[in-house]
Amino acid sequence: MDQSKNILIFGEMNGDRLSSMTVQLMRVGKRLSEDLNQEMHLLLIGGKSQGAAEKGFGYGADKVYTVLNPLLGNYMTDTYLQAMEQVAYRLKPLIVLFGQNDRGLDLAPRLAFRLKTGVTLDCVDLKIDAETGLLEQVKPVFGGKAHSHYYCKGRYPQIASVRDGAFDPTDYDPSRSGEVEKINFSLDSAAVRTRFLRKEGAESLALALRLASANIVVCGGRGLKKKEGMELIQETANLLGGAIAGSRPAVDYGWVPSSLQVGLTGKKVNPQVYIAVGISGALQHMAGCRKSKTIVAINSDESAPIFRFAHIGVVGDYREVLEGFNNEFKKNR
Ligand SMILES: Cc1cc2nc3c(=O)[nH]c(=O)nc-3n(C[C@H](O)[C@H](O)[C@H](O)COP(=O)(O)OP(=O)(O)OC[C@H]3O[C@@H](n4cnc5c(N)ncnc54)[C@H](O)[C@@H]3O)c2cc1C
Repeated sequence: MDQSKNILIFGEMNGDRLSSMTVQLMRVGKRLSEDLNQEMHLLLIGGKSQGAAEKGFGYGADKVYTVLNPLLGNYMTDTYLQAMEQVAYRLKPLIVLFGQNDRGLDLAPRLAFRLKTGVTLDCVDLKIDAETGLLEQVKPVFGGKAHSHYYCKGRYPQIASVRDGAFDPTDYDPSRSGEVEKINFSLDSAAVRTRFLRKEGAESLALALRLASANIVVCGGRGLKKKEGMELIQETANLLGGAIAGSRPAVDYGWVPSSLQVGLTGKKVNPQVYIAVGISGALQHMAGCRKSKTIVAINSDESAPIFRFAHIGVVGDYREVLEGFNNEFKKNR
């Protein structure tokens, strides 16, 4: 893509606000735009809230674009991909940033394929190479044991998705404002291979939101052995006013929705207290919770690796430990 310039952020809404992921992307996007002496632009597809779009300026956007079309009311891969492709041809961005989440993972590689360029997923750092001016894309490899640095040479835009939590949200400056530009184009409904029927999973979304802001997280792993174990985890979380979560096996077995997975390929949490129940402490799990202020581990195997990370360790059968804890808590609260 010739004459590519500027950094384009694929923005997302959470209700009628910009999502926390978007506000994190805008921090790194702003830094990159300053290093390149370019502008940072925010794109909101299908978002109906004009107020939220305008807030993009306060978060540092030099331009905010919205794309509205009846086909973009609900997220669907085919429509959003078409929209992104047309936007990319129209705005010719030098760099496009997505969040490393369901939409980012869905769209970024497809867009890169359509535009015949590269993509690096799950970046934890992004810099501008001083010599070449290329985007240096840093991502963890080998289960987080090493970092790999990627460049996309001679192809534009350079596309990356950024891990949630890799950057702090950017600061809001209420004195910045601007006019949101609407991009209009038609979408080919014949190219849409799916049909939106209904939205499901409101309960799992509520749990995920609760997890994101919880001070106390009780996380269950394979050691629970069966789904009923999660009821005990839930009871403990309710008593402590906390949220539940699961390790990857807990998600794979269907004990908790995937939105509650903690770890390298799941959510990154850093609550005041993280209670790991029946979790061995694999590095890929700890990548999502090791920043917690206090880690409590309950495990029947005293040599489990989790005890190397735990500030408080309890060796025992989780059922006995949690039932005892819950009963004492109820008596004394
Ligand atoms: C690329 C990649 C990405 C990954 N991403 C993630 C990720 O995001 N999140 C994640 O969690 N994993 C992830 N994994 C998987 C990870 O490597 C581990 O396999 C996983 O975390 C193990 O989950 P677990 O601790 O629940 O199960 P296990 O490792 O099987 O541990 C179960 C633990 O329960 C204990 N236990 C058994 N019975 C009891 C009992 N009655 N009471 C108390 N304790 C008991 C056992 O002693 C054991 O320590 C990833 C792996 C790869 C390769």
